[in-house]
Amino acid sequence: MSALTRAQALRNLRRTLSEAGFETAALDARLLLLSVLHVPATELITNPDVPLTTDEADRFEAVTRRRLAHEPVARIVGEREFWGLPFALSPETLVPRPDTETVVATALDLLPDRQIPLRMADFGTGSGCLLVALLHELPQATGLGVDLSPGALRTARRNAWANGVGRRSFFALSHWADAIAGRFDLIVSNPPYIASPVIPTLDQEVREHDPVLALDGGPDGLEPYRILLGEAKRLLVPGGLLVVEIGYDQAEDLRSLAATHGLEILKVAHDLSNNPRCVAM
Ligand code: GLN
Repeated sequence: MSALTRAQALRNLRRTLSEAGFETAALDARLLLLSVLHVPATELITNPDVPLTTDEADRFEAVTRRRLAHEPVARIVGEREFWGLPFALSPETLVPRPDTETVVATALDLLPDRQIPLRMADFGTGSGCLLVALLHELPQATGLGVDLSPGALRTARRNAWANGVGRRSFFALSHWADAIAGRFDLIVSNPPYIASPVIPTLDQEVREHDPVLALDGGPDGLEPYRILLGEAKRLLVPGGLLVVEIGYDQAEDLRSLAATHGLEILKVAHDLSNNPRCVAM
């Protein structure tokens, strides 16, 4: 049997995934094939008739099997794009979501000047996507990535260096702000905010592959906000900005928590599905 060409492999995988009910079959097939070939995307257009080597064909079969078992594409290829930048993943990190870009956009929108040498902190940094994207946009800023998971911190550090902001990135192992002193001009966080009882009902790809530490926000999903908003006055410089991601139904809860802690809501920003996704205080 002669080897499949790149174009044939792409078509086959697209059909297989589509028949198995994957809504993003075409995109998935492309990303998975590219990860096997280790070539730029343009190669599929300029050299579609190159046959797969035996090694490539084996790996192609392996990634196909993993995807059919509902492993997320980002986990299989080990990388996900966020804010136009590549982020390596590890089992300890949440896959960066497009919705989380709302936090980056909102913070940038509310900062008076991108050239200020401000001090930023990202609580629950995970892959480092918020920290790195913001440092990328704020060339004079320095940032502290905080996480409870050593594995996540290793991944975040790697992502900071890979995206050219390693020199301005610092990392601390801490349960929220327990081990953190000092004050920041900007604090961002995409904390775990799913209520514990809801976790078993999450989408299979999330439930089985995203770390529960990054999802579980306690009995009502608001525990991390109580902690972060409670520490805001200690951690922010006067006039400092706190921007957090929230669940689609948590805007009202955040309003009352902000009032409890004497924080003024500056903005509630919406995601691409028009759900409230981020609160700035
Ligand atoms: N947005 C994520 C999800 O729906 C949850 C991430 C989080 O808890 N911070 O799976």
